[in-house]
Amino acid sequence: MSKFFSGRHAALTPYTPGEQPQDMQYVKLNTNESPFPPSKGVLEAALREAGKLQLYSDPTSAVLGRKMAQHMGVAPEMVLMTNGSDEALYYAFMAFGDEQHPMVFPDITYGFYPVYADLFHIPYEEKPLAEDFSINPAEYIGAGKTVVIANPNAPTGRCLPLCVIEDIVKSNPENLVLIDEAYVDFGGESAVPLTLRYDNLLVVGTFSKSRSMAGARLGYAIGNPALIADMNTVKYSLNPYNVNRVTAAAGVAALEEDDYYRANCQTIMENREWTAQQLESLGFDVIPSKTNFLFARSAAVSGETLYLELKKRGVLVRHFTAERIREYNRITIGTREQMELFLEKTKEILKEANA
Ligand code: PMP
Repeated sequence: MSKFFSGRHAALTPYTPGEQPQDMQYVKLNTNESPFPPSKGVLEAALREAGKLQLYSDPTSAVLGRKMAQHMGVAPEMVLMTNGSDEALYYAFMAFGDEQHPMVFPDITYGFYPVYADLFHIPYEEKPLAEDFSINPAEYIGAGKTVVIANPNAPTGRCLPLCVIEDIVKSNPENLVLIDEAYVDFGGESAVPLTLRYDNLLVVGTFSKSRSMAGARLGYAIGNPALIADMNTVKYSLNPYNVNRVTAAAGVAALEEDDYYRANCQTIMENREWTAQQLESLGFDVIPSKTNFLFARSAAVSGETLYLELKKRGVLVRHFTAERIREYNRITIGTREQMELFLEKTKEILKEANA
């Protein structure tokens, strides 16, 4: 730490991103990226727009925002496009959290929530998930605090039905409910239509997973126009040109080629169910998932050993060290070939452990 570092931030524990190793070619099943490349129109749009990189992007992301609004069935003033959904979360925490607006979220969820809460000095409560990693909705009904829920949740993969989300939103009219839908396209039900009826609901989503654009950084927030106006106040105080022009053009093309992405999601869901069955037949405990990953543990090898042994064999999965989940690994669902390779290496490791 330098002698110049602000005392306000000295105690922060920053978020640890998943490994992005540059040393060798891994089968990368550790950061929930899509195994499929962007669609043809996205590549063409990105290339076309790259020729105009000397010009700033449109700070309002108007064309993309309108397209997104149309895609989601909401008005354009209900949409904010962001530099990844991490930025949408960051703006929301900054805009809506403070001492008077404390937060509540599960103890096992996306690791950025406590990081942003600490960064902005927002008090928060972490509600323990049940033993089976399910969220108990009763703990969020009439919570009297800002509620943050990833639905489906990460890294567990479990999903709450939309009627439960609506109950939570309805029972907290004086508090914001933020639903993070990073993984909703893999079998969940989006809460976006509810934003037309509830002014305390903010839905955040991303192009990183189901739309193969993790490297482009594109996310969004959808909610009542007043909420979006507040987030714009924060955005224009920090980073007006938050979505670069190549990404904005790519995003428009991705929405125009929705069929391609839907088909990819279908394939990933099929690969997920197949992989879950295979893992179960190898004696793994697999949490039911509505995402593009599985959360699983083996009785035969520890979470850390499996992670390290897979890495030695060129397969990367995500291992977390937190007490309640350290026997698990989060395995991103890739192509069928990638999952076959992952299973083959896993079998090898199990065999060695039993030998
Ligand atoms: N929310 C959740 C639950 C996530 O797992 C992720 C991916 N790390 C994000 C948000 C952020 O994704 P991105 O910034 O790439 O949109």
